Amino acid sequence: MYNPSSHKAEEFIDNQEILETLAYADRGKADPQLTEKILQKAAQRKGLNHREASVLLACEDPKIVERIYGLAEQIKKDFYGNRIVIFAPLYLSNYCVNGCLYCPYHIKNKHIARKKLTQEDIKREVIALQDMGHKRLALETGEDPINNPIEYVLESIRTIYSIKHRNGAIRRVNVNIAATTVENYRRLKDAGIGTNILFQETYNKESYEILHPTGPKHDYAYHTEAMDRAMEGGIDDVGLGVLFGLEGYRYEFAALLMHAEHLETVFGVGPHTISVPRLKRADDINPDAFQNGISDETFAKICACIRIAVPYTGMIISTRESQQVREKVLHLGISQISGASRTSVGGYAEPEPEEENSAQFDVSDKRTLDEVVNWLIRIGYLPSFCTACYREGRTGDRFMSLCKNRQILNCCHPNAIMTLKEYLQDYASEDTKVLGERMIAEELNKIPNPKVRDITAQRLQLIARGERDFRF
Ligand code: SAM
Repeated sequence: MYNPSSHKAEEFIDNQEILETLAYADRGKADPQLTEKILQKAAQRKGLNHREASVLLACEDPKIVERIYGLAEQIKKDFYGNRIVIFAPLYLSNYCVNGCLYCPYHIKNKHIARKKLTQEDIKREVIALQDMGHKRLALETGEDPINNPIEYVLESIRTIYSIKHRNGAIRRVNVNIAATTVENYRRLKDAGIGTNILFQETYNKESYEILHPTGPKHDYAYHTEAMDRAMEGGIDDVGLGVLFGLEGYRYEFAALLMHAEHLETVFGVGPHTISVPRLKRADDINPDAFQNGISDETFAKICACIRIAVPYTGMIISTRESQQVREKVLHLGISQISGASRTSVGGYAEPEPEEENSAQFDVSDKRTLDEVVNWLIRIGYLPSFCTACYREGRTGDRFMSLCKNRQILNCCHPNAIMTLKEYLQDYASEDTKVLGERMIAEELNKIPNPKVRDITAQRLQLIARGERDFRF
């Protein structure tokens, strides 16, 4: 029985409600009055529920799809401006006891190189990441209580935050590790993590159990209720996602929004981010063996519909996608991207030898961080290395209210400009510097509040003189 305020996975992600939503969307897409009403509601920028958003996703009329894209782009501009936050994943260990059929780390894969970084390895990796200009990381591990216990993750987080190399610092560590207990989420919170990211993979319980035949991840309820436990443990920034390609995308889309509605209903705050990974080729994994792959067009439509449905939630795209696909969806709602990613365990300090492949999936966008920054500037986006929100306590509902009151432009925008300035001073190529300085001059003039504009201009001068003591 569907109940968004229940803590039970099968009640807040009720299969029957999803099936009825899909039937409602099929009927609704052919009803011009209903689609018009939903588009009008979307234009108010207050979001849509899973049923309404599913109707838009089902629409195939090119005129309606155009309007969906237009709205997504407008909402993105209104709430996020042209900032794009940049991060990199850091794979700590690919030891894993699960049997996930789509993931090369699965326990039966005997030909992938198994690796785990020591604290010394982590120092080297973090220095390499800092030397590129990264300030924000997402930690990734397989699930293995012996090789990767929570103590190992906590120690690694402490190591990462302790490294200050030249002007570098990792200022925000997000984690993407297996579902765990309230107590462990509390320990992660105390260690200073930013967002707890956990992909659902698929919300369809039957498929979930087939795709996760063995290991602790087999437990659908434990996995699906993880964000409730994270929030109980005091983590108020959580990141959702499904792995597109495993199940029917319309099913996943409706369920993803139901999950967001559940968190908002129970905890008063929705997810901080939604990621949109697509299944990729990897060691022992052939994506063509899965029946539910989606086209780039459908992928773009999903991104646009998520943007419209949850305007205050950040959206993340990784280097699983090519430059071309990333460029398309940047316009439609993406607010965070990874750059220069390695999905091998280690690989930043020194590239992994080919015969040792430990990677989780093939990366499509292989550009350096400087190339990514340069590209963003050229296409009109302001690369941001800011991490201030979480250190200033602007997480969870406090961040959401900033976003809802459209104060991001007086707050995040200046921080983005200043962190770009730091990047240009410390790490950029000559070409990126020239482009970036030009952009900074233009963006400074866009800050609405004159006082904030003056302070930003003064700080930019301090940064140019070598001052790095700001709390971004
Ligand atoms: N062990 C953690 C867990 O149980 O959730 C997760 C981390 S895993 C390092 C990060 C994510 O990569 C997974 O949640 C999955 O969605 C994604 N992934 C796994 N195999 C993939 C593949 N072949 N292509 C693309 N993404 C994949």
